[in-house]
Amino acid sequence: MENILDFTREDLGTWLDDKGIRPFRAGQIFKWLYIKQADTFDQMTDLSKDLRKELADHLLIKRLIVDDRQISKDKTEKFLYRLEDGQHIESVLIPEKDHFTLCVSSQVGCAQNCKFCLTAQGGFIRNLTISEIIAQVRDARFYIRQKDIDPLKLSNIVFMGMGEPLANYKNLVKSLKIIRDSDYGLKFSAKRVSVSTSGIIPKITQLGLETDVNLAVSLNATDDKTRSSLMPINKKYPLKQLLEACQTFTMKPRNKITFEYILIKGVNDTKQDAFKLVKLLKPIKSKVNLIPFNEHDKSIFKCPSKKEISDFLQILLDRNLTAMTRKSKGDDILAACGQLKAKLIP
Ligand code: SAH
Repeated sequence: MENILDFTREDLGTWLDDKGIRPFRAGQIFKWLYIKQADTFDQMTDLSKDLRKELADHLLIKRLIVDDRQISKDKTEKFLYRLEDGQHIESVLIPEKDHFTLCVSSQVGCAQNCKFCLTAQGGFIRNLTISEIIAQVRDARFYIRQKDIDPLKLSNIVFMGMGEPLANYKNLVKSLKIIRDSDYGLKFSAKRVSVSTSGIIPKITQLGLETDVNLAVSLNATDDKTRSSLMPINKKYPLKQLLEACQTFTMKPRNKITFEYILIKGVNDTKQDAFKLVKLLKPIKSKVNLIPFNEHDKSIFKCPSKKEISDFLQILLDRNLTAMTRKSKGDDILAACGQLKAKLIP
């Protein structure tokens, strides 16, 4: 049996066509799945009984199994999901002023081995399937609907959970199709979906050509030596090439690439770093998200002081970079950036 959440609307149309069923039915089925949140084919009352049976004979509609759910003081919620093979992943639901943002995972574990990140410590286990990515979104919408909140209030998605999304490229792109699918599907606007990468250059270029979502790049350093020591991927895809790929990244005229920059005490937080960052990003349409390092017990790195962080930010702002410090939410429940570990680490 196949999981129906693995299908884009187009793929489902082809599947139906192969069975002699008119492909436009895929749109109707998608509405039931993603707008009305059906759990069975029997609920899809505008399909014939025969069609419902045919679907139920071959396809499954499934939700993720919630192993644990934690709520932070700032109302951020972290979901620990147990997948069918017993592996675990986490999603984080972040309430903002007038909407929610969902931070989704793309892999079980991660192979990038970034020195500051807790997910890296558990190593790489496997890529998520399309349905595992999509179910995080669909189930989060279902969850807020059960609380009598308009599900469309969950309007923003960031691929900033566990894993490197561009290392799971094929499933990422199909998932984005479903996430962006207009009146039939999850209906997220391109402006409100961001994919964050450690910097896998060929896939960055491909993403720009094949999708219209926002790109975020985890920069974290302004020279190759520091960046390679923090992020081994930099040895393969060094700064200069990375920034060139960003410069030529295909996007809408008014869009900008987000550069994430973790501030780590004594590592990448000097005034010289700030000046260099300005210089490096000058030719690129960019905005900078400074992320004060979230400390955790598997790392000796420390977060700079508030003053050091605001001084760093000021240098960027004074030189006309668009920049802000990201307030990581949910750090009391290990839901903040770089703190997701699911059950990877014993
Ligand atoms: N692999 C992707 C997606 C993960 S996003 C990527 O690298 O972009 C996770 C973000 O959190 C990245 O920008 C990363 O640099 C940041 N991060 C990781 N560990 C962190 C920590 N301990 N404190 C603050 N930010 C962290």
